[in-house]
Amino acid sequence: MTGVRVAVPAKINLSLRVGPLRPDGFHDLATIFQAVSLIDEVTVAHGEPDSGRLVTVRGQRIDGVPLDDRNLAARAAIAVAQLAGLDDPDVRIEIDKSIPVAGGMAGGSADAAATLLACRRLWEVDVDDAVLHRLAAELGSDVPFCLLGGTARGTGRGEHLVPVLDGGQWHWVVAFDEGELSTPEVFAECDRLRAIGAAEPTLGSDDELIAALRSGSPQELAPLLVNDLQPAALALRPSLAATLELGTELGALAGIVSGSGPTCVFLGADRDHAIGLAAELAGTGRVRGVRHAVGPVRGAHLVA
Ligand code: ATP
Repeated sequence: MTGVRVAVPAKINLSLRVGPLRPDGFHDLATIFQAVSLIDEVTVAHGEPDSGRLVTVRGQRIDGVPLDDRNLAARAAIAVAQLAGLDDPDVRIEIDKSIPVAGGMAGGSADAAATLLACRRLWEVDVDDAVLHRLAAELGSDVPFCLLGGTARGTGRGEHLVPVLDGGQWHWVVAFDEGELSTPEVFAECDRLRAIGAAEPTLGSDDELIAALRSGSPQELAPLLVNDLQPAALALRPSLAATLELGTELGALAGIVSGSGPTCVFLGADRDHAIGLAAELAGTGRVRGVRHAVGPVRGAHLVA
């Protein structure tokens, strides 16, 4: 499809600290996001949607992706149309998906961020990035970071962002799981485990991790990766413990569940090490798929 095309990266959380449940049902988070080179591409064009579907999606394991206005990309397009005062926007959205669906890598949020940018261009809407950021935060907590990219500290629900100085080029091995995990269910499991005393919030700050990022040393970064949602993801999907163990046995400097899971990410010492690790992990046949990814990469950006 010819139109406006935007590339957008997946995110991983190098640190994800989850506060107590708030009265509004959300949790305060303190997180360090990094955008990595697993990329979705979103194209928007003028025209009536085919067979009433606003969204077309291509990729593997995309059955769980809605094609109507429940799709976050469609909701992003509607938000830009409203801003531009377009009552009946003609738009088709095509998504080429590489980011795993419900994998803890913010795939839906990434597509929403890409669509915001693409529709601003398509309809030549005269608003600056700050306005787009506000729309992004209304669509979902991870959407602003998908616009920004790089490495950043996120607070609030994750939408208040400050870029972090990152001196490294980090090589990750991403292990896809057979299934999906629902983010709300993982947060609920985290609350349940805490209520029965089976999990505790991580104490401390991310200062050391931020210093390690500045240093560029994977050996310094490895022991500082932390994810408060990991015990909950492991409780809901016990096989992830074996995946994490396998990666570290094969020589990863560290392994962690990505966000709410079930994708796991492993840190390599350098490019060759990560590529070798990815090949070995794939060779075991014990994970659905394996990819080498680098970070940080830029956030959503126009490619055509
Ligand atoms: P996060 O890491 O932000 O918690 P996730 O990566 O675990 O999210 P997503 O891939 O964003 O999960 O999908 C979560 C659910 O959102 C899917 O099961 C699907 O029903 C819905 N969804 C809506 N729009 C999209 C989209 N564009 N891509 C994928 N899923 C979408």
